[in-house]
Amino acid sequence: MLDDTIAAIATPLGEGAIGIVRVSGPEAIAIAEKIFVSRTGVDWRRQGSHRLFYGLVVDPDTGQPVDEVLLGVMYAPRTFTREDVVEFNCHGGIVPLRRTLELVLQHGARLAEPGEFTRRAFLNGRLDLAQAESILDIIRAKTDAGLAVAMSLLSGELSSRVRRFQDQLLGILAQVEADIDFPEEDIEVASREDLKNSVLDLMGDLEELIHQARFGKVFREGLRTVIVGRPNVGKSSLLNALLREKRAIVTEIPGTTRDIIEEVVNIRGIPVRLADTAGMRDTDDIVERIGVERSRELVKAADLVLVVLDASTGLTSEDRAVLELVEGQKGIVLINKSDIGDGEGLARQVADLYPDKPVEVISVKTGYGLSKVEEAIERLVLGGQATASQMPLVSHVRHKQALVRCYEHLQEVLRALSAGENIDLVAIDLRAAWEALGEITGDTVAEDIVDRIFQDFCIGK
Ligand code: GDP
Repeated sequence: MLDDTIAAIATPLGEGAIGIVRVSGPEAIAIAEKIFVSRTGVDWRRQGSHRLFYGLVVDPDTGQPVDEVLLGVMYAPRTFTREDVVEFNCHGGIVPLRRTLELVLQHGARLAEPGEFTRRAFLNGRLDLAQAESILDIIRAKTDAGLAVAMSLLSGELSSRVRRFQDQLLGILAQVEADIDFPEEDIEVASREDLKNSVLDLMGDLEELIHQARFGKVFREGLRTVIVGRPNVGKSSLLNALLREKRAIVTEIPGTTRDIIEEVVNIRGIPVRLADTAGMRDTDDIVERIGVERSRELVKAADLVLVVLDASTGLTSEDRAVLELVEGQKGIVLINKSDIGDGEGLARQVADLYPDKPVEVISVKTGYGLSKVEEAIERLVLGGQATASQMPLVSHVRHKQALVRCYEHLQEVLRALSAGENIDLVAIDLRAAWEALGEITGDTVAEDIVDRIFQDFCIGK
């Protein structure tokens, strides 16, 4: 499949100053020769790589000019896909872009699948799989921190860490295989202890990475947050206050379900996705609006639940029901309306009843305590472990799962070593651990997983 030439519009459709038709593959240059006419008389084919040429896209069949463009020419292998690449920088309108794309397709290219340019970059060894995944993260980053995590992934920090682990595993495997090959040599007891220690070292490092994944995912995907509480405690006021205070609302993501939209606010660099159930801002309450079952699901799926109570009314049975709903869940209890009630008193009561939940006294009306809410969110997410300068290396569930699988195989290795089991068995698990790591970089990953990863990309990327 890699011997054909692919093309796509690489910029969003709509009106813009420029739009780009990107072409990659062995026919890219030949296609440009057919449909691009230089306006400066330069023989662009005789110039070097990575240059821009001014001219027209012309339909060779009719001689009709289609658009005035800058043609970018990049010869393999120093390109994103490691193939010949040309890019038509057209005017950013739907018609000139479509017409240019049509001409490209008529003269030897086929339409690219989503993510196919990046996939070629991966298949041709320009990027490993984790780096390829980071590109989508960069495009979708919601905050500076999210972007920094994605850039670190692109730079290969995780990949090189994983490769170091793989090297260590190979070292251990070599020792084990020496044992298999020369079993009669009388070194076994000592070497089994040594092997165990090397495996334990590696497991410690893995554990650290797996632990980081927890907040890495938050930086990448945002902290899914819901606000719950009985009617009139101030949920919508709180949502509005958070949205208003944070001018840096980055984007609005359509929610997973029809009647819920989410907005992302940037709280101390953490992208916090606030579920706004339809109508919540029209003062209705989640539970009332979408039903107990659905709100339970929403709460279950959340990374963080903000439970709002009303200081002016004290703790009611409904409040207790809400608190039960978030039992075992990461949550912060916010005692609102402290301007008209005994916030501290209610806070003490709640802290006694639910000692596992942090409690903050606030007043949305006066703004009191809102910065403490932000602090509490930050504390909960980072657990005092990381700061923006200490980016988590692992931010994808897929990567975390591979690390966990590797870890589990190593546990098995330890068990087998301790139980004095056949050294062949130890070798099998060591190899499996090595392969689990290879899924991250794509060295050992199955085709269908690769397919799934690139399906999420947009066409032209
Ligand atoms: P929801 O039903 O939980 O979404 O509650 P709302 O946000 O609609 O608030 C209910 C009422 O409480 C509104 O009249 C708000 O203006 C008022 N309210 C919200 N927060 C505060 C607060 O901190 N202090 C006071 N005094 N009133 C508040």
